[in-house]
Amino acid sequence: MRAVLRRNPRNLSVSPRKDRLMKKLGTSLVLVVLLLLGRAIGQEVRQEIHFPDMPGYRTLKVDMHMHTVFSDGLVWPTVRVDEAWRQGLDAIAITDHIEYQPHKADVPTQHARSHDLAAAQAKEKNLLYFRGSEITRDTPPGHFNGVFLKDQKALDTKEFVDAVKAAAEQGAFVFWNHQGWKGEEAGRWLDVHTKLFESKWLHGMEVCNGDSYYPSAHKWCLEKNLTLLGNSDIHEPDLLKRNTAAEHRTMTLVFAKERSVDSLKEALMAGRTVVWCKDQLIGRQEWLEPLFKASVEVKPPHQGSKDAVWVEIVNRCEADLQLERVGKVGPATIKLPALSSIVVKIGTAKPGEPQQLSYTVKNLLVAPGTGLKVTLPIAAAPAK
Ligand SMILES: [Zn+2]
Ligand SMILES: [Zn+2]
Repeated sequence: MRAVLRRNPRNLSVSPRKDRLMKKLGTSLVLVVLLLLGRAIGQEVRQEIHFPDMPGYRTLKVDMHMHTVFSDGLVWPTVRVDEAWRQGLDAIAITDHIEYQPHKADVPTQHARSHDLAAAQAKEKNLLYFRGSEITRDTPPGHFNGVFLKDQKALDTKEFVDAVKAAAEQGAFVFWNHQGWKGEEAGRWLDVHTKLFESKWLHGMEVCNGDSYYPSAHKWCLEKNLTLLGNSDIHEPDLLKRNTAAEHRTMTLVFAKERSVDSLKEALMAGRTVVWCKDQLIGRQEWLEPLFKASVEVKPPHQGSKDAVWVEIVNRCEADLQLERVGKVGPATIKLPALSSIVVKIGTAKPGEPQQLSYTVKNLLVAPGTGLKVTLPIAAAPAK
């Protein structure tokens, strides 16, 4: 048997004052260690993404295209949930390929498994989560995601069209992925796309996939009233700590009546989206305009010097906004950094005379190559 040695405190020759001091130091040390341990062990932190809500709508940050080891991805399904939650997303769908299963010697083909493994984790994190798959046949016709599915196995069909039909018949939201990824010729609109569209089996397109932007997809979404989408299509672990204007996951901002899966689906079917990809926000004018208005505020002007009036402009969204003047008032260009304020000189306004700033926001795209036009009213200048 091993002897247990116990240190007898009475044998230590310390003065009572020193003893009290050491006790105090000991308590503080224990507290510091506990604090450090707390930080090191649990305490996952979520970094919020700031895009304001709009009147009547919640702005949800959504990614509906990502892969796990159950197709050609490199992470376990629960990791996708944790990444998305930490990065401030509100809703995700894991969309493993139905047909392409390069890990199947190690991870057998089970179309529903990645969803089922991650569902409890999503619930724990209060992340909106729903069933998705990627129908991956040749290009053309290209790859298509079905989300809000009920039965993923039903998409494992012989014919491509039957797979899309099976998704749509389950009430899924179906979209065409990365349309131009193999070039414009391979991504052209064919009769088969017309068939999907006319059958109401096709509801949206990825205007952006990862860092790629597809102007043809953008154009067709506007022409055919399809929903504009942006997704990450991530395969590797996502090492990004937080989404910022400089570096972020490509995502879709969805304007939903409330924060629920049903509301999200309703908003997607109704086309209430804006895509955030690199330094651009891409969407229909009817959604970019209120998003801009909810994000940007021009404060009442102040007299900067004897003959110059200045205004403070606040940007409450996560994207930098690049403005180019079309009117006569204000600087030729203005950059509104994300989540910041700037002051600009608006000239020699006469007191009591209201003015306005007329600009094009170059990186808010209402159509390929076309920025959103905005007018910012300025209250009457104060008396000198
Ligand atoms: Zn794909
Ligand atoms: Zn994919």
